[in-house]
Amino acid sequence: MRRMPNSPLLPLTEDHLAKLRGLLSRDSLLTDRADFGPYSHDETEDLRSSPAAVVRPKNSAEVVEVVRFAHTHRIALTPRGAGSGLSGGAIPAHGGIVLSLDRMQQIRSLDADDMVAEVEAGVITGDLMRAAAQIGLLYGPNPSSFDICTVGGNIAENAAGPLSLRYGTTRDQVLGLEIVLADGTLVRCGGRNRKDVAGYDLTRLLVGSEGTLAVITAATLRLLPAPAARMSLLATFPDLESAAAAVATVCREVPAVAACEMVEAEAIAAVASLETVPEPLRSAGAALLLEVHCDQAEHLMSIAEQILALVEPLGSSDLQVALDEHDERKLWHLRRQVAHAVKSLSVYKEVDTVVPRSRLAELVRAAREVASQEGLKAICYGHAGDGNLHINLLRGTLDEERWIEARDRAEVALFDRVVALGGSITGEHGIGWTQRQHLARHTPPELLATMRQIKDVFDPLGILNPSKIFLDQHPDSEQETAEVSS
Ligand SMILES: Cc1cc2nc3c(=O)[nH]c(=O)nc-3n(C[C@H](O)[C@H](O)[C@H](O)COP(=O)(O)OP(=O)(O)OC[C@H]3O[C@@H](n4cnc5c(N)ncnc54)[C@H](O)[C@@H]3O)c2cc1C
Repeated sequence: MRRMPNSPLLPLTEDHLAKLRGLLSRDSLLTDRADFGPYSHDETEDLRSSPAAVVRPKNSAEVVEVVRFAHTHRIALTPRGAGSGLSGGAIPAHGGIVLSLDRMQQIRSLDADDMVAEVEAGVITGDLMRAAAQIGLLYGPNPSSFDICTVGGNIAENAAGPLSLRYGTTRDQVLGLEIVLADGTLVRCGGRNRKDVAGYDLTRLLVGSEGTLAVITAATLRLLPAPAARMSLLATFPDLESAAAAVATVCREVPAVAACEMVEAEAIAAVASLETVPEPLRSAGAALLLEVHCDQAEHLMSIAEQILALVEPLGSSDLQVALDEHDERKLWHLRRQVAHAVKSLSVYKEVDTVVPRSRLAELVRAAREVASQEGLKAICYGHAGDGNLHINLLRGTLDEERWIEARDRAEVALFDRVVALGGSITGEHGIGWTQRQHLARHTPPELLATMRQIKDVFDPLGILNPSKIFLDQHPDSEQETAEVSS
């Protein structure tokens, strides 16, 4: 099936709105521009575009009505969870309808025998984690945004978190999906089975598809046994190289390590600009935060000793151990404060990079080099165990024009270095709206063309989240593109 060449997206008219009102319950449709503010942006820096209407369905049947309507009338439809995304994915770049799943928050079932959860797409990730914990199970991926983001948004972005090191990303938990296809057909793919090789694995294809292939209304997710015991550790290092070496060694030698996060010197300094950071952390070249999960509390101290024996020869002079929730929160405070500290320092651009774990030190050095060539500062931190670092480029005192030029050049140079290191241009935040122009740096043209064909098969009219992932979305309808400011 080919994309129809003469199928521009159409603007939403008063006539359309009257029809939509007839299809939905009263409180599911917002048409007053005064209500559009929250639906015009996500958490990406400085990006906005207003929808022409917002639909907040109560159930899958209402989702079906809206998608069928958008398909019939060729209206752009942007699925949305909580709007916590960091690549502009939920921004309605073509105006049209924002389809917000935020009211579909039902945990349909939690099954301790099959160890699966069935949840609606709008369930907040943290609510699922807590519900699973109440029956002694664990929902693995814990993006730092877990208290605000939705399961549907996590699936659409293939979100990850510190615990992905041990338990995998969102993709590894998704057994089945309830989806609404672009023409409004509701189908289920996958199921509750841990094994299933019947035909192509469309479930995994839909994970990470950023709302461009189908609307996810519900998911069947894998749960795991909750660990019986856990602790957190903070190790400081004199320099980046020794911390990076420790990441590789500790992740290889200690299977009980469930999370391994790195904060380098500039990130520690950023936090120290806001609050007192004690020595030796304050003058460390880098610090690692580890979370250990195991079956028996009696094993914790021997695991801590094993880690100490591994990091000491690498120059770590200080290993702090937290065994209860209060102390763990104190240790993780540094990591949790970095994003806030960066924001308070300067206008910035966050670049989500991932490289093989063994290339981490080279990645940070490349970031520093590229930034300083452009008169910027780079602050790096993130999920080091997965080789996934968030590199924040800071504007500092540059004027607006110089900043935009320098930022864009630095981003391109950084992505080229990342690809040369065998990495990827996004580890977890997705391509969305902001990274479309860089996808070709990483993905060969043949694969890009295949991705484009897949999009056309799922969504021949191009109504689902237009202008995301690909640069060439309906060039003939670009005049319909709403103003996107950057
Ligand atoms: C402070 C902070 C910390 C963060 N930490 C992490 C982290 O540790 N790891 C990480 O991976 N990300 C992180 N993020 C980014 C963000 O939280 C994730 O990308 C999250 O998965 C987005 O979920 P959401 O519900 O907010 O989705 P949205 O932002 O609303 O949407 C994201 C994308 O998914 C699509 N989408 C949403 N719902 C559906 C649906 N039901 N069907 C089809 N498509 C849909 C949208 O169209 C869009 O393309 C962080 C963000 C913030 C602000």
